[in-house]
Amino acid sequence: MVSHDEVRCALSARVDGEFSGLDDAVVDAHVAECADCGAYYQRLLSLSRNLSFAEVDGGMAPPADLSRVILEGVEGQWRKLSQRRLVLLALGRVALAAVALLWGAWAVTFLAADGDPSTASVRLGVACALGYAALRPAQIPGIALIVGTMFTFTLGFVVRDAVLQTGDSSAAHVLILLPTLLALVGTLAADRGPQITQAWRLLNADPS
Ligand SMILES: [Zn+2]
Repeated sequence: MVSHDEVRCALSARVDGEFSGLDDAVVDAHVAECADCGAYYQRLLSLSRNLSFAEVDGGMAPPADLSRVILEGVEGQWRKLSQRRLVLLALGRVALAAVALLWGAWAVTFLAADGDPSTASVRLGVACALGYAALRPAQIPGIALIVGTMFTFTLGFVVRDAVLQTGDSSAAHVLILLPTLLALVGTLAADRGPQITQAWRLLNADPS
């Protein structure tokens, strides 16, 4: 007599195409008599069919180049993002160069009209700083701090003048300081975009 376990080992070997060590006739005779081993054999056969189906049919099996497909998709998106960022950065630097020229022209015309030399030198200094920021966007934070302070104080003076109706000419300064500040902040955002996004995600505890 053979045991159920011996028969099941033999059945498993047969499904795998290996030699079982038992005579096929003995195994078949047991399976014909034993309902449990018969059911076991059917399960083995059905499992084996499903597995070979998965191996043959490409739709069920993962594609061999799955990682390549994923990487290409991610890289394409990343490239698109970084191209857009480079375009924004180039536009920001052009804007910075433009406001630098504006500040320089403002200083020169002010000086030519017998204006206060110390005021003209401050404007010339801002022009130089903006030109430097256009060349070196990494230096923007320090320059933005100065221009931002000038903007805030000038805006304060304009509001004070409006309230007291003293009618000073500070409003024109706000009109040049505001686009300057926007050019600085915009270029900084384009330059540090990924870092800012990363920092924001860290703050939000969303590591996606
Ligand atoms: Zn059995």
